[in-house]
Amino acid sequence: MRRCAACRTRRPKGELLRFARQSHGVEVDPGQLRPGRGGYCCLDQACIDRALRRGGLARTLRTALSEAEVTRLAAQAVEYLRERKAQDLRGESRG
Ligand SMILES: [Zn+2]
Repeated sequence: MRRCAACRTRRPKGELLRFARQSHGVEVDPGQLRPGRGGYCCLDQACIDRALRRGGLARTLRTALSEAEVTRLAAQAVEYLRERKAQDLRGESRG
């Protein structure tokens, strides 16, 4: 189980979106396979916004996120959310 960086709810990893801290910055990690410190967030736009903008994710990853990074990561996360929802609606399973 992992904890959402925004609402602190504990969920299985598969129900959370992973962010990974890389040497060049933080990346969205939908496959949950990237090396580096990871932070998790519910598959929920409100939680993603909160985790990124209120510093919960940055704290979990022990790094600082610039405004530009927050904007980029929020856009990538929301895009992933949209794709995943579309997949769910089509009844496809992942992997
Ligand atoms: Zn959450």
